[in-house]
Amino acid sequence: MNQTYALVPQPVSVKQGEGFFQCRGVPVISGDSIFKNEIDTVSAQFRADWERCGCADNTGGAAGKIFCKKEDMKEEAYRLLITQDAVTVSAGSGAGIYNGLQSLRQMFLGGCDEAVSIPCGEIEDRPRFGWRGLMLDCSRYFYSVEFIKKLIDTLSLHHINVFHWHLTDDQGWRLPIKEYPLLIEIGSKRREHRLSGRFSGGFYTEDDIRDVIAFATARHVEVVPEVDFPGHASAILAAYPGLGCTGGPYQVEDRFGIFEDVLCAGNDGIFDLAAAAFDTLARLFPSAYVHIGGDEVRFNNWNECPKCKKRLAETGLKTPQELQSWITVRLAKMLAERGKTAIGWDEVLEDTGQYKLPKNVVVQSWRGREGGIKASGLGHRVIMSSSKDGCYLDYRHSPDPEEIGQRWGKSTVFQGYSMDPITPEMTAEQAALVLGGQANLWSELIYAGKIAEYMIFPRICAIAESLWTAKEAKNFEDFKRRLPIHQERLDRLGILQYRGNLEG
Ligand SMILES: [Zn+2]
Repeated sequence: MNQTYALVPQPVSVKQGEGFFQCRGVPVISGDSIFKNEIDTVSAQFRADWERCGCADNTGGAAGKIFCKKEDMKEEAYRLLITQDAVTVSAGSGAGIYNGLQSLRQMFLGGCDEAVSIPCGEIEDRPRFGWRGLMLDCSRYFYSVEFIKKLIDTLSLHHINVFHWHLTDDQGWRLPIKEYPLLIEIGSKRREHRLSGRFSGGFYTEDDIRDVIAFATARHVEVVPEVDFPGHASAILAAYPGLGCTGGPYQVEDRFGIFEDVLCAGNDGIFDLAAAAFDTLARLFPSAYVHIGGDEVRFNNWNECPKCKKRLAETGLKTPQELQSWITVRLAKMLAERGKTAIGWDEVLEDTGQYKLPKNVVVQSWRGREGGIKASGLGHRVIMSSSKDGCYLDYRHSPDPEEIGQRWGKSTVFQGYSMDPITPEMTAEQAALVLGGQANLWSELIYAGKIAEYMIFPRICAIAESLWTAKEAKNFEDFKRRLPIHQERLDRLGILQYRGNLEG
């Protein structure tokens, strides 16, 4: 069986030689003891991949040998040396070994019912960016832990290493906080019109969260939680109406959109809530980052509310818009006290006259590239995920009206392939502040894991290549050649995929 590697994302260097490494049954991985965790994790993946296609492994552990070797190499980099007798994966870290083994796993996913033949050769690889992420909105739709784990596993096959977990929004709060039990009792459920107006929803228990983090960590995926302040707060207000400007009544939103009711900037109670949320996140999540949202805040209530007016007078600020900056500064400081760095959507850059955004706050650019360009110019680290560059996976794959997704935009595979987190406007200093990029899946219309898969794949394959592969090594024509081979691997993992026009 002749084949090329056809890896996604494309490695930095691929040299194909003579002959084949052949393997019957589940390959056996061994190696230096510091890589025990990676060897255990990937061995279990190999066994699961085999079982999924219904093939028995009758080799009794005698199948093709894979050896993991420690070598001095950059974090996340790896080398694959494929000879007729064995495959050697070399790396300087567990992350590098894991990446190398995932590239190998892709090759094995090409077949299993017969002997797998992989051409001999050598692959050298390392990432262009350190931050390669996907955000999943678990508020508009409450995805199961099982789905999230399947997703993280499949993302890691593409060297995606950040899972941005959107845990709170107007339509549901998913994070238990001991001091605020009503966030779950009331804030996690909403009237669901698809279910004849019955209340539905859910939340992740602390055990669920630990389970997801352990699963992701074993795959070298960092889980970054997001809790939104001060907008997108209807679920908080339904549970604790005293935290709003009008006192309510409020409901966990059963509509989609942007709402006037936000947290009251004049009420110190909102910081008590944030402190309890941050304490919980700091206890559960090992990530150095907490995303605090900050997007789409409506200021009309802050203009009318006596408490907000008092706050304006006390702080000497002129406009309610500036109060958001005042809140962001305070939240970032609270996170810093807990050893965490704040990330905010690009609105946190606005109206920052008197309360400058602290330098260490990371800005996630979403309304275009402008936020990332401006933020890096001000010395902030940035994550690029422009809705205009194919990173918004809630948009349709193409203008076809029968496609799933938001009507106001499209995100084609080609756009995702063409996105570059470093824009021509950036200086070298600015470019150095670009951590990487992300795709984001908002779930107003995506009310099942299966639909989420269809929206994510194969667009994330293109975005993974934009974030991993050296710019010079990218080539859309070559990607189009590799993609059908790769999509068969994803079929085998049971992933539902879009297979239409890649250029919309
Ligand atoms: Zn107020």
